[in-house]
Amino acid sequence: MTKLEIVQGDITQQPDIDAIVNAANDLLEPGGGVCGAIYRAAGVDQLDRAIKYLYEDDDGVSCLTGQCVHTPAFDLPNRFVIHAVGPIWPATPTAYDRLDDVRQLGMQQRRETAQRQLASAYSQSLILADVLGCKSVAFPAISTGIYGYPPEQAAEVAAEAVTKTVIETTPGIELVRFVCFDQNTEELLRSALVVSAVEVLFPSDNTDEQLTLPFPT
Ligand code: ADP
Repeated sequence: MTKLEIVQGDITQQPDIDAIVNAANDLLEPGGGVCGAIYRAAGVDQLDRAIKYLYEDDDGVSCLTGQCVHTPAFDLPNRFVIHAVGPIWPATPTAYDRLDDVRQLGMQQRRETAQRQLASAYSQSLILADVLGCKSVAFPAISTGIYGYPPEQAAEVAAEAVTKTVIETTPGIELVRFVCFDQNTEELLRSALVVSAVEVLFPSDNTDEQLTLPFPT
């Protein structure tokens, strides 16, 4: 059985965790936010060199949205960094119109795609960590900063994806820690995890019944 933990803190300060997850961009560049913090703590030059050595091809370095790759953690106190690319939230109908295939989709479809990509970023990270022999994984709130994913919806997606994956696919992972940078993210995730745990453990068509179960928050 996997233990799910929620803490407020800094993902670069989790020495008891095997793999920490980076909210990466699709070019796997240092960037800002949690990504910048992870690069600085790991050592920008050595992490950048490892990314290029491992993942650069004729078109440069890239990782598909919803997918992930891994590197050593270098100066971080962990074994691996898993670089997971979350989606950019489609905020307005005209944003990112340069992507031809995306332009064809309606706003609702684009948001559904973003939801699937965010769920995939979490589940693929857990699967990769499991393949790497990790027993513990820490996540930041992927896509909720610069990428603009609404925090409440992101918390629901994260909670459901992680709960399902650890039960159905990666039972070998003993601990998943959500490291929230602020109190609001922590509270949203706490509520979302209670709901998704109830839904996974007691599947039912009656949503009212699920939500009134006396689970502590
Ligand atoms: P994205 O581009 O995926 O939105 P960001 O880094 O902008 O990624 O933000 C993702 C989340 O990580 C935000 O909730 C932000 O507050 C949080 N965050 C930023 N720095 C850290 C850190 N050092 N540890 C944990 N979470 C962090």
